Order: sequence, then structure tokens, then C-alpha cells
Amino acid sequence: MSTPQGPVTIIGAGPAGLCLARYLQLHSVPCVVYEREESAEARGQGGTLDLHEESGLLTLREIGLLDDARAMMRPEGEAMRVFDKSGKAWIDESPEKSSFFPERPEIDRGMLRDLLLGSLEPGTIQWNHGVGSTRVIDNDTYEVTFLDGTSITTNILIGADGTFSRVRPLLHSTKPTYNGISLYDMLIPESSMTPSIREFVGSGMCIVLGDGKAFIPQMNSAGKCKVYAELKCDEKWLEQNKLPETGKREWINKLYPGWTKGVEECIMAVDESTITPRRLYAFDSKFRWSSDLSGVTIMGDAAHAMAPSGEGVNQAMKDALELGQTLVAELHAPPRFASLAPFPLSFLPVTQTPCKPRIRRPDPKRLHKAIRRYERRMMERVAPEMWTSEELYKCWFGPDAAKTFKGLFKWLMIWGVWDMVVGTLWRPLRGLWA
Ligand SMILES: Cc1cc2nc3c(=O)[nH]c(=O)nc-3n(C[C@H](O)[C@H](O)[C@H](O)COP(=O)(O)OP(=O)(O)OC[C@H]3O[C@@H](n4cnc5c(N)ncnc54)[C@H](O)[C@@H]3O)c2cc1C
Repeated sequence: MSTPQGPVTIIGAGPAGLCLARYLQLHSVPCVVYEREESAEARGQGGTLDLHEESGLLTLREIGLLDDARAMMRPEGEAMRVFDKSGKAWIDESPEKSSFFPERPEIDRGMLRDLLLGSLEPGTIQWNHGVGSTRVIDNDTYEVTFLDGTSITTNILIGADGTFSRVRPLLHSTKPTYNGISLYDMLIPESSMTPSIREFVGSGMCIVLGDGKAFIPQMNSAGKCKVYAELKCDEKWLEQNKLPETGKREWINKLYPGWTKGVEECIMAVDESTITPRRLYAFDSKFRWSSDLSGVTIMGDAAHAMAPSGEGVNQAMKDALELGQTLVAELHAPPRFASLAPFPLSFLPVTQTPCKPRIRRPDPKRLHKAIRRYERRMMERVAPEMWTSEELYKCWFGPDAAKTFKGLFKWLMIWGVWDMVVGTLWRPLRGLWA
């Protein structure tokens, strides 16, 4: 039996879903978020994220959380150094050295999530509600069935449920594909951070490249260090090469024979219980879709999963902002004519206390048009970032990786300046005909 649901149903309490929920609630639009995890504490939220002015930071500003987030940010986390496997340094950048560019402060993923969760009305998140499937009942009504067999119906359904979205099949049948990279996601606790590991990693991120592999330790808050050990390999490699029950660190260390000493020191300092194998999946940057349905869409990784390149969360947050603006425009009813004074006094200005906007059921045709416009703009905005991510991974796991990355990095800096100057003029124009 399906329970009918209020105006906006969001699937997934990641950065995209939570930012959208916050935006809608700030504009008095009721919404519910269904999340697969059992509670806010069910899973560690992973590493640190750098937030960008034109996307992540802009969204936080628009949802009134930027000042609170700033108190948790680490500007020094922007530093980046790149070595080859012998330990030769190819890039050594710090925020002071590249002060010409806008800031990109780092924030722990868990802190960002807690901030967003704390900003929502009580009861907004329905934990332990993993979605099993979705289906169209008619052109603007959708049924969402949860893993426990219960279901709801809704007229506005938003998929913010990550790379393996269960909402996306309503819009198209393309799935993200394995991008050839698997990794071990690990953590060094603060108590195991020796002076030489600190020296090797620096205050931000350190990338060591060679032999179709990457080793990426990344400082998090409170002196912890996230470590990604990444390999170019077949999709089944992780299953075929299972980690042993004991001696996981030694086993992973053998994947980096003869690499600079800092790599071994980091691996041996990792807390074994944190080692999590992962595979990376991505959409092709040229992929586009279109749908005839009204009232359903996707955002964040559900819409444009890409290999991690520092953009995923920023684009997901920008999607939430743009979709929030689209939905609010369609769901707010125009204000009623308020003056009760007789003519001609009714034309005199009246002082009105701001009142809660009325929420209306949107016209399906108008909503369809507005949502498709949001999707077209999103695809245009994200495609260059997806392309950059593809090039980055080709470079990191190709021959002479550190040297080639230095060249690509310079090119990206030049592109960054060009984009800052020309993009400021070009983007609003492009938006007009998207
Ligand atoms: C190893 C790694 C490192 C990364 N590093 C960075 C980085 O440094 N910078 C950066 O910008 N990006 C990074 N990313 C990418 C970034 O994590 C994503 O782009 C971002 O989290 C997307 O946000 P989202 O809300 O769209 O999806 P997600 O963060 O994936 O959130 C989806 C939510 O939906 C829930 N969910 C999933 N399926 C269901 C279901 N069936 N029913 C109900 N709920 C469901 C999930 O539990 C989750 O809470 C990294 C990704 C990985 C894998």
C-alpha cells in the first residue's frame, strides 16, 4: 500500500540531497529525505573536500551556512605536492604561493554533513529507508518502493542517491562504467602521525605517481590523515586479490616496491580496521540525456558520477542550489492581493508583515519545462569538469605520470585564469539559451 507524500521527495542524504532540503525549507517548501543508512553515525564519511567559490561555497552562502562552515574549514589544506615514485618533487603548491586564485578551503566531509543535518527541521530525514525501486504510475506520479517492501507515491521525486541511483532508471538506462581504477581507502590516526610522515605529506595533499599507481595521503582535521592507495587494474582485481585477515598493511605495502620511503611509512601507520576497498565509476563526459516525464530528476553523482578530481561535491552542491531555485519558483503561489481598503485608498502602499508563501501544486507542463532546463544547464556546466577528471586519470595512471601531470597542472592553471576572466561573462550568456 503506497502512502502519498508531500510536495518534494528526495532520495539520499549526501551533500546534494541535504543542500536541496535545506534550500527548500528556507523557502517554506515541505520536503522529506529518504536515506538508506540507519542513522547519521552509521558510517564514517570519508576524507576532506575542497570547496570552490563558484559552486560549493556559493551554495553554502545561499543556504545561510557559510559562516558556520568557515569555522570548520582549513585553508592550509589547499597545499599540494606531487612526487614521482623515487621521491623527486615535481609540484609544491601552497595557498600562499598561488594567492592569485580564489580560495578553495578544505572541510571534513563528516563535518559538512553534520552541519547540513543540524540545519534541517526535525524529522526531515527518514533513516533506514533504502530505496529498492521506483516506477511511473502516470506522467506526474511516481511510486518509490523501499527495501522493507513499503512504498510511497509522490509528484516530485528527486534522486540524490549517488552513483548507483535507483531513481535514475526513470530518466534513462545508461549506467556509469568502471574507469579502470580501484583503491584502498585508509586512515592514519593522529596518534600514529610521526614527524617524518607529517613532513612527507605537508599540510594538505600529497600525490605520489608511477607504474600505473597513485598514492595519495591527505591531511584531515584533528591531525588525522586519509590515505588512498590507487591502482590501475581490472574491475574484478579486488575480488581476485583479497586482503589477508592479518597483515593487511604489509600486503598493501608490497604493491609499491621500491617507492620512496614516505609511502611505506604512511602505509605502516594506517589503522587496519579502516582499510576499505573501492572501485571508481564514471559517466562519459559526452553523455547527455532527455526525458518526457514531469516532476522527476536527478542530481550530484546520480546525474554525473566522475572519478574524484575535487569537483564532485562542488558540482553536487551547485545542482542542489539550481534545482532548489527551480522548484521554489514553480511551487510558490503568487501572493494574494492583500489590500482591503476601498478604492482609491487601496493604491496607497500598505505595510505588510512578511507572510509564509503559499505552496501550490505545480502545473505538470510548466514543471516539466523548468526541470528539463535545470538538467540542460547542469549537463553544460558539469561536462568540462568531467572531461578534466578523465584527462587527470589518464595522466596519473599513464607513462611519466608526475612529469606529465606537472604539464597538465600548468595548463589547468592557465585555463583557470581564462575561465575566471572569460567565463564570468560567458556563463550567464550560455545559461540564457541552455
Ligand atoms: C574515494 C573518493 C574520494 C573523493 N574525494 C572527493 C574530493 O576530494 N572532492 C570532491 O569534490 N569530491 C570527491 N569525491 C566525490 C564526492 O564524494 C561525490 O561527488 C559527492 O559525495 C556527491 O554527492 P551526492 O550527494 O551526489 O552523492 P553521495 O555523497 O554518494 O550521497 C548519496 C546518498 O544517498 C544514499 N543512498 C544511496 N543509495 C540509496 C538508496 N537506494 N536509497 C536511499 N538512499 C541511498 C547514500 O547512503 C548517501 O547518503 C570522492 C569520491 C570518492 C569515491
